[in-house]
Amino acid sequence: MRSPELLMPAEIEWRDTQCYAPRFGDIYASADAQAEVERVFVEPCGVSQLSTRYGRITIAELGFGTGLNFVVTAARVLRDTTAHMHFISIEGHPLAQSDWERMRAQYHSRLPLYDRLADHAPPLLRGWHRREFCGGRIVLSVFHGDVLDGLAELAAGQSAGVDAWYLDGFAPARNPDMWSAEVFAAAARTAHEGTTVGTFTSAGSVRRALSAVGFEMQRVDQRPHKRESLAGVFKKARPRRASVAPVAVTVLGAGIGGALVARDLAQQGAAVTVVDPDGPAAGASRIPAAIMHARLLADGSATAEYRVAAYHHAGARLAAMNGVTPQPVVQICGPNLSENKLRRIAARYIPEEPPEGYWLALLEGGAVATHTGLTDAGPGLLFPCANLIDLPTLVTALLDHTGIEVRRDLPGAHPEHPMVVCNGLGALETLPDLGLELAHVHGQLDRVSMPQTTAASALVGNGYFVPGERSCIVGATYEYAPWDPGRATAANIEKNIQLLDSGVRPLSRYRATRAVTSDRLPIIGQVSDNLWMATGFGSMGTTAAPLAAAEVCSALMGWLPPLSARVRQALDPHRFRARQQRRGPAKGPGYGGHDRRAEP
Ligand SMILES: Cc1cc2nc3c(=O)[nH]c(=O)nc-3n(C[C@H](O)[C@H](O)[C@H](O)COP(=O)(O)OP(=O)(O)OC[C@H]3O[C@@H](n4cnc5c(N)ncnc54)[C@H](O)[C@@H]3O)c2cc1C
Repeated sequence: MRSPELLMPAEIEWRDTQCYAPRFGDIYASADAQAEVERVFVEPCGVSQLSTRYGRITIAELGFGTGLNFVVTAARVLRDTTAHMHFISIEGHPLAQSDWERMRAQYHSRLPLYDRLADHAPPLLRGWHRREFCGGRIVLSVFHGDVLDGLAELAAGQSAGVDAWYLDGFAPARNPDMWSAEVFAAAARTAHEGTTVGTFTSAGSVRRALSAVGFEMQRVDQRPHKRESLAGVFKKARPRRASVAPVAVTVLGAGIGGALVARDLAQQGAAVTVVDPDGPAAGASRIPAAIMHARLLADGSATAEYRVAAYHHAGARLAAMNGVTPQPVVQICGPNLSENKLRRIAARYIPEEPPEGYWLALLEGGAVATHTGLTDAGPGLLFPCANLIDLPTLVTALLDHTGIEVRRDLPGAHPEHPMVVCNGLGALETLPDLGLELAHVHGQLDRVSMPQTTAASALVGNGYFVPGERSCIVGATYEYAPWDPGRATAANIEKNIQLLDSGVRPLSRYRATRAVTSDRLPIIGQVSDNLWMATGFGSMGTTAAPLAAAEVCSALMGWLPPLSARVRQALDPHRFRARQQRRGPAKGPGYGGHDRRAEP
């Protein structure tokens, strides 16, 4: 395995319909797996009762495995109650896509959630992965990595307590790391009086260890399937910390950033007022053909971590929404991507033997030509699961929710209700004290007549080219001062001339202005008590905004954040002031000094 962020997929042997893990000499579940989940976890932990009592529950699990516990539990909550559920799980050896497909084939007719889970299974990358189902009623956070690291992050980041714990690692004798005293102590730190625990094992050592950290344990009769399992209730007098949706939230800005924040919070029950003097999708989000792919980095930096996480989150979050069309993308070398850099990215993110359906591939020249029609391009990175986004359509779809009101004026904002600033360049005026380094970077893309091509992939390099049926999109200019639109059209055609007919005709053009930060990172996080930001997405709003919304929504809901601590620090709204205090004012076009114009 090449890179520190990649995880090896679990080695699985399929024995008819049963999954077996040779590494641990153990099965994932018995032959009647779905019923077993009910008997060992759902019933003994009282999932239906907890859901009814609290209305919003948090279940945490050790060992995500095939996701069956999650899917069966979600199905129960959806069937029996009107509750919301946040399911948190920790896994060291995630499934490969081919195994997700087998699980889907086996279960999707009975458990339809498997379809969406298999479509957007958490990638083989370390860290937290967030997925949502059923309009946000079911939220899934999966940590890939070491169990103690995951537990430490859970304890540090999640302010809402855990209502039920599922302990489902492989058998204690074969996988002792999942059953250590430290693990039980960490799980107990998240519990409150009444938190339940369930586990398939009946090992006396597990029963004693759970008793020692505060659970009152009992054996659960599992005959005739097996003799018994264990279940328990946390008995220490510790109050429950609930996850509560804010009653009302104001969001400034109705671009994709604001629309996603509004939607995520409305889905959790908040009454959201979105305020934009120009109405929805009037700023940079007026662009009807934006590419959602990742400008990856191979340097292991916080920026690199953030970009890959944002890409995977965006693909899952926006899948199948209005305005979102699957569109494979090939990225070739360009002004900011040398061949050396591109190959280092491939080496960092593509395992030596990539599993089937892997999210990234290295193409050598001939294959680039097959995918894009461009000959002599050198190597390329293929993103088979990228998307093309019609931003106005997507923004309209996101804002179409009973919990969201869109207004052009700001009603008297209640100081006790949170406000989220998503207004792009408007943030310079809204929050002048933050010393935000945001530049206006104008741009244009053009729809032009379509050349004869069989190419199916969009091309990103020096600008971008998106093939279509009767016309194609070429873009985008990067203008520090606005150009004449005719000049911008000529530049867009010129950049893609190798892919266009000599008689190419411009059909229509779209102009907008990006909000670009001096460090090319978005601004995401808390400004003060009830004030949050999610903006400054530059040229990457489609990829960056979904994870930004998840981060803000998590903070307001008391959920663990999807971003790691170092990424959160890198995106912090206060970073500009801190830097200015150390180094003086920023320099560059739009900020007043050194030129970074080669960096879209
Ligand atoms: C030519 C071009 C091509 C692009 N191509 C791509 C691409 O291929 N892929 C990609 O991911 N991204 C692309 N982008 C970038 C993408 O469009 C942006 O990153 C994204 O739209 C930013 O969304 P936003 O919601 O943060 O900002 P915006 O869409 O700009 O929304 C901010 C909103 O805030 C409102 N506002 C301003 N002041 C206030 C105030 N005081 N109170 C309330 N509201 C206020 C504005 O009216 C505006 O509607 C492109 C951009 C351009 C210009």
